[in-house]
Order: sequence, then structure tokens, then C-alpha cells
Amino acid sequence: MSDTSTFNTMRTEIAGIDVLDLARRFGTPTFVYDAATILRRLADLKAFDHVRYAQKACSNLAVVDLVRRHGALVDSVSAGEVHRALAAGYTPEGTPPPVVYTADVFTRESLDLVVEKNIHVNCGSIDMIDQLGARAPGRQITLRINPGFGHGHSQKTNTGGAQSKHGIWHDQIDQCIGRAEAHDLTIAGLHVHIGSGTDLEHLSQVCGALEKAALTVGPSVTSISVGGGLPIPYRQGETRVDLDAYYALCDAARKRLAQQFGHPVTLEIEPGRYLAAEAGYLIAEIRAVKRQADNLFYLVDAGFNNLARPILYGAYHPMSIAPADGRTDRQERDVVVGGPLCESGDIFTQEEGGFVAHRRLPEATVGDLLVIECAGAYGAVMGSNYNSQPMAAEVLLEDGQAHLVRRRQTFNEMIQGESIV
Ligand SMILES: *Cc1c(COP(=O)(O)O)cnc(C)c1O
Repeated sequence: MSDTSTFNTMRTEIAGIDVLDLARRFGTPTFVYDAATILRRLADLKAFDHVRYAQKACSNLAVVDLVRRHGALVDSVSAGEVHRALAAGYTPEGTPPPVVYTADVFTRESLDLVVEKNIHVNCGSIDMIDQLGARAPGRQITLRINPGFGHGHSQKTNTGGAQSKHGIWHDQIDQCIGRAEAHDLTIAGLHVHIGSGTDLEHLSQVCGALEKAALTVGPSVTSISVGGGLPIPYRQGETRVDLDAYYALCDAARKRLAQQFGHPVTLEIEPGRYLAAEAGYLIAEIRAVKRQADNLFYLVDAGFNNLARPILYGAYHPMSIAPADGRTDRQERDVVVGGPLCESGDIFTQEEGGFVAHRRLPEATVGDLLVIECAGAYGAVMGSNYNSQPMAAEVLLEDGQAHLVRRRQTFNEMIQGESIV
């Protein structure tokens, strides 16, 4: 599974549907998700006993429902995401738990909700064990362990190690066992998630950390979750992580535990980006083409209010032009791509630290469309109303049909809840 990725800078269709038609029908900016790509990525992981979708990557109800229909479980990191999982058709209880609440804290609202709906909790702090135990003794819980190391494509996506707020520090497991016993809670599973965009070497350390933690807890453990963090190829020529090799490492750890405990141990994986990123496209319209000294800017109607990854992490997204006149025989040139916001950081072609970068793209004029690719994960979900821009529309392509799954926010919806004194 080491197919090398290729990206073209001209694009006329997405999953067989004309980009110009999509823009005419739904307007811009619009996120488009290709269901078939999500399902292909889900199928890549079928060796694992359970795939639990980390919905925070792309939590549109239609996407959560899609993965549910195809056998994935779901992870929720807030009360809102628990509500979304239920609204998308998940049942609150079951074996394995269809919905898991994973966090380092309970808000008052999320604690009430998991108690009331009997949602399984994956505890990332000892306080969570105490707070849940006081309200709902007798339950099974899992622990999210911080193994003492992490990895991420950016400091902001690294979720392990001493600088990370996530998970229960690995030397506090004995303390957790004591707290759980005091509340009659059973530690039924362990979970490690060390960061996003991780490589195989770091992923493989996850298995070792889980095994060690599970041996400390003992045979009450019936499941381990290796978390998410699977990278996807964002750049030309990047290869896919070797999933077979990763599975083999996880499976070996799981089998040793099963042997030790004398009962089966299930193996879960919890991808967000891996399922959603490549399926998503942000379609924007070029609204101005302007030159500032030697820099040529394509300014589009989408900004970091729609896709924040470049300004947050200096993230790179492939981009392509969908020509309004259908002519794909255009010269390429180096351009800077920016959005409409009154904020100098509103640039899609930037590196970490905010340095403006150039991108080789076809010549384009006002009215041509710009497609920002690999935008399905951490795209729409990080959208905001900054500059009073409405939340973008979202469209799901399934079986050759384009379905509007979130209509563009209206001005009245944006100011709902506000009032003048
Ligand atoms: C964000 C998150 C994930 C998914 O991370 P990806 O890098 O998108 O795969 C999985 N598990 C937990 C607990 C998370 O917070």
C-alpha cells in the first residue's frame, strides 16, 4: 500500500461531477466530500477489529452517518459531539461501545450527558475518574495514557509527552487503579493517541506503550486502542504509511496481552484525518488577481474562516484551478493564494511561522474556480464567523449524486442569539 500520490493543478471534476456545476448549484465557498474516498480509506483499515471515527476531523452529520452505515464506531470529544453521534444514528450503548467520550476534562454539561445517556468514557485525567465514579459507580471505563512521548506534524498537533495536556501520565496508572477501585469502576481498556500526522516509527512506539500500560492494569483490560494520527499524503510524491506493517505491530502486542490475560483483547484504531482529509475539497471562486511588486495574488472568496490549517500550522494543501471557460491548456505561474479577510495572515500558501510561499498554478482570472484539496479533515469543523463571514456550505457526493448536507449559513442565522440592549 505505498502508492505514490499525484496532484494535478487543473481540475474539471470531483468524483465525476463537474466542478463548475457544483459551484453554480451550491455557490462558493463550498466544501465537497467524496463518499467513495472516505469508504476506501475505511476499507484500508479493515484488518483492525474496530475502526472508531474521530469525528472532530469532519463532524458533518452526513459524514458521521456515512461511516456509521459502513460499520465504523465513533469518538466524541465534547457534549456536542456526543449529541452529533446520536443525531447521526448511533445508539448510546452497546458492546463495543458505539460512542466513546474521550477528553481530559468533563464540562458540567458533558458529565451530565454521559451519565444520563450511559455513554462510555475514556478518561484523560484522574479527576475524570473521580467525577464519573461519584455519579455513576459500577461502570466500565478506559484510560487514555500519555506514554511520555508524542509526535505531530506541528507542536500544536503533538498530543503526547510532558508538554502535552492530554492523557494520564504513564507513571500514574497505579493511582488510577486505586481511584477506579474506590468508585467500583472497571478499567476495561487502554488508549494512546500521540498526535496527528505521525510516522510509522512513532506509531509503532504506541503499541509498546499500550502493552506496558495494559500489563500494569492487568486482566480487566479487554480492549486496546492505538488512537489516530495516521498521516495522509498532502504533497506530490508522498507515500502512504505502511498500514500492513503497522497492523502487524499492533496485532502482535494485542496477541501477547491476550496470551498473558487468558482472554481475547480487541484492537481498535481511531482515525480522523485518515478517513476524511483526502475526500474533501474546498471550492472557492477567484475574485481578484492582483500584483504587488513581484508577487501575483489570486484572491478567492474562501479565507481562514473556512480553512484554518495554513494559518494555524503552515499546513500545505494541494490546489488546482477549475477553469470557467473549460480551457485547460494554460501556462503556469508562481502565485500567492489568499482570501477575503481583513487580516494579513489570510493566505493559503504560507509556511509555518507565517512566511508567504509561492505556488505554481495555471494562469487564472476572476471567475475561475480554485479548488483546495485534501481539505476534508480539520477544515469545515474549524470554520468561524470571523469578519462576519457565513459558514460555508457542505456537499456530499455519493453514488454520482451531489447532496447538500449543510446549507450556507444566512446572515440572520449568524446573528441569532445576539441582541441590542
Ligand atoms: C484528534 C483525535 C484523533 C484523530 O486524530 P487524527 O490525527 O485526525 O487521526 C483520535 N483520537 C483522539 C482522542 C483525538 O483527539
